[in-house]
Amino acid sequence: MRAVASLWSLAQRVRVVAEATLLRKAVAPSSPAPTRPVLAATASRFEQIEQAVWARWRPQVCAAVIAALADEAAATRMAARPICCGQPMRRHDARPVSWLTWVGRVHVTADRYRCRTCGAQCRPVLDRLEVEPGRPSGWLVRQLALLGSVVPYPLAAALADPLLGVRANAMMVWRAVQRLGAAALAYTDALSAYHAAPGSVAPTAATAPAAVVVAVDGCVVGVQPRATRRRRPTKTTALPPLPPVPDGTFREVKTGVRLPPTDRVTLPERAGLVRRVVVTGLADADALFRQVTAQLRERGWLSPQTLIVLIGDGSEWIWQRAALFAHRCEILDFWHAMEYAWAYAHLQFGEGARRADHWARRVAADLKAGQVHAVIARLHQVQPRSPEAAAARDAVIRYYTTHAHRMRYDEYLARGYGIGSGAVESAHKQVVHARLRQAGMRWSVRGAQHVLALRALLLNGQWAQTDRLRLAWAA
Ligand SMILES: [Zn+2]
Repeated sequence: MRAVASLWSLAQRVRVVAEATLLRKAVAPSSPAPTRPVLAATASRFEQIEQAVWARWRPQVCAAVIAALADEAAATRMAARPICCGQPMRRHDARPVSWLTWVGRVHVTADRYRCRTCGAQCRPVLDRLEVEPGRPSGWLVRQLALLGSVVPYPLAAALADPLLGVRANAMMVWRAVQRLGAAALAYTDALSAYHAAPGSVAPTAATAPAAVVVAVDGCVVGVQPRATRRRRPTKTTALPPLPPVPDGTFREVKTGVRLPPTDRVTLPERAGLVRRVVVTGLADADALFRQVTAQLRERGWLSPQTLIVLIGDGSEWIWQRAALFAHRCEILDFWHAMEYAWAYAHLQFGEGARRADHWARRVAADLKAGQVHAVIARLHQVQPRSPEAAAARDAVIRYYTTHAHRMRYDEYLARGYGIGSGAVESAHKQVVHARLRQAGMRWSVRGAQHVLALRALLLNGQWAQTDRLRLAWAA
């Protein structure tokens, strides 16, 4: 009721202000003093209830987690003692270990066993729980890693309080991203290595698509020129400034996208990301193609029944590796082909000239009709008006001649393959640029690889898999 009343009074005030604005226009000198806007005194009743219930039960949830952990410790104690050097190990001591979780700090008393012969130690309850002591753990670390793979670490830390009710700092988020990202990367790499090995078994898909579109592209991110992190000489002095980024400290990120052509045709643009699979990394071209191959084999799509449609720009690293797919169709990205045509048209007819526009449109129409050889023949006939125009003309001829067999756009369109690498370019923007290419950002190679591994999982709709990744134990 109070909320309704305050809403009503707010509406009244808005009207007063609106009328005052109108009046001011009419009779400016005698306008009344403006009314300061006011916030409601409290949260809505609904949200008060939610907040009160969570405040009341959160400690009890925490206590319940602690009790469940104690049960695990008791069950571990009942089990047979661990064996080392052919004999049961001796119980050495029992010390509490704790973790920060989404419901607060939890702890368990862990028995430590020691081998009388070799001195090795172990804490079986930690093995049973599959967790390392003394760190943010479980669900919390995955949530922090999720935030850190979406926004910069300081902002992610700021979001942890309102979203998770946990006070975090940027370093905690960074660590969570590194731990989970390392686990994701290790799994992806292992999967690539497995599928590259001669004896690996690929599942067979019951309904393999007739064709799968694989689009590959590269872009660069800023990489730190130093191998080591900056260190403060003392606690109170500031960090030394970052050196400027020289050329050559950018590393190429190579991305592959594959999507069945039917998805591309039927799904609206905004839903495109849901169904396509992005493969990305700072890896070299061979590693990227191994990853793409592994992803295709995992789905049972690398079989003679499925045509691999490879779309890319003129980069040699793409086409040199196309032969990896025996049953394939190579397509040169249509927009890259048109860039060459436009470059020549602008030099020949002038930037913004109607003739340039007309000429390029005709090239586009001819290319889409599969007439690349006719376009090349016409280019041989033209009289370039300047040496620059001549060079641009020769570049078009060279590019189109080299890739003519990848420019049968009429066929590709008829079969619904698509002729542009727009999917991979927008994937780049979403996977790479949005997080790794913000102003002034520079990355360590490992750090960038970890974030990319997590972002690929997130944007491929596979984030739920991350709870089956085991975080690496710190040495
Ligand atoms: Zn031993």
